[in-house]
Amino acid sequence: METKKYSKGTAAIWAGEENPYFKGAATTPIVNSVAFAYTDLNEWHNVATGKSDGFIYSRNTNPTVAALEEKLRVLENAEAATAFATGMAAISNTLFTFLQPGKRVVSVKDTYGGTSKLFLDFFPAYNVEVVLCETGNHEELEMEIAKGCDLVYLETPTNPTLKIIDIKRIAAAAKKVGAVVVVDNTFGTPINQNPLQLGADLVLHSATKYLCGHSDAMGGLLAGKAELVQKVFHFREINGASLQADPAYMIARGMKTLDLRIERQNASAMKIATYLQGHSKVKEVFYPGLESHIGHDIAKEQMRGFGGMLSFAFDGGYDLVEKFLPTLKLVHLAASLGSVSTLAGPPRTTSHVELTEAQRALLGIPESLIRYSVGIEQVDDLLDDLEQALKKV
Ligand code: PLP
Repeated sequence: METKKYSKGTAAIWAGEENPYFKGAATTPIVNSVAFAYTDLNEWHNVATGKSDGFIYSRNTNPTVAALEEKLRVLENAEAATAFATGMAAISNTLFTFLQPGKRVVSVKDTYGGTSKLFLDFFPAYNVEVVLCETGNHEELEMEIAKGCDLVYLETPTNPTLKIIDIKRIAAAAKKVGAVVVVDNTFGTPINQNPLQLGADLVLHSATKYLCGHSDAMGGLLAGKAELVQKVFHFREINGASLQADPAYMIARGMKTLDLRIERQNASAMKIATYLQGHSKVKEVFYPGLESHIGHDIAKEQMRGFGGMLSFAFDGGYDLVEKFLPTLKLVHLAASLGSVSTLAGPPRTTSHVELTEAQRALLGIPESLIRYSVGIEQVDDLLDDLEQALKKV
């Protein structure tokens, strides 16, 4: 599908599925075949050497997975896309492709927990220099980038306080030193934000979250410049972190309603954030759609909607979270996000469980913080639920 021809809602349904692979099927089949058989040895050789299109072995490429990759490629206006078994597989494959010993990477302190672990526990052992800047401090990022680096890795909005990084500004700094810019767009989604249009070279997703949207399949996706995606694809096909056809189908199916879900989640999150901000028992609300949010002006520039993730803190400690969360009725108290059903949890037991209270405080994460991933329920039901639970705090 031509990248810019259709609106995102239409592209999410049709991209990769204009000609489903099997005998007029009106949806992409789940092709669980490990290998693809040929009767003509020449044709087999041509496909194996890349001279003709086709499939050889599902660790490399697979028709169901290819349909999903095409969907994200179109939604992110990218030249190419490739899929992985999980979001972390997309992140680690991308980072390991570009960061050999002696390289230097500049990123921020607030990346997803698994990503921070790669930066702090793994890359230093491979003699990669890792520089993690304060997330909101653009000057520090620019200064570190200007010293020279090979890769700039960003995530925006961040977890759990929804900090915003100016992608255009940081990508411009990275261009000056020839660094590859990678953005984790899991929270943004391609409906709300397209980092490639803001100067990034690669964009990646935990497809487990909003893209799938139903908390029932795991996957990761990477899109961007063909030459760079090809490098990561080559590493992935050899190390084997490939996505299987079954979850690829589930994610592609979920993506068909991505536009509708995000529209609802954007609107509901805005209402809920506004409600919480006006509530006497809530001390602070973190949502980039609120004018009071530190990153609001940048978010307004680079996002079409502010997303379905928000967090809020009480005036007090973790005991208030313990009182509040179990009384909510319309949530799963669970570590994930981006589903049709609302999910909530404290960073203290989920994303930032391995940090001490002091380390969380340094990241600006109060002990009474609750991360709330707004689902697609009717917003009035969610507001009623929050109201009854807040009465018990
Ligand atoms: N990136 C972000 C922003 C995430 O929130 C997560 C998981 O929560 C990941 C990456 C990792 O994705 P996965 O759990 O699919 O490996």
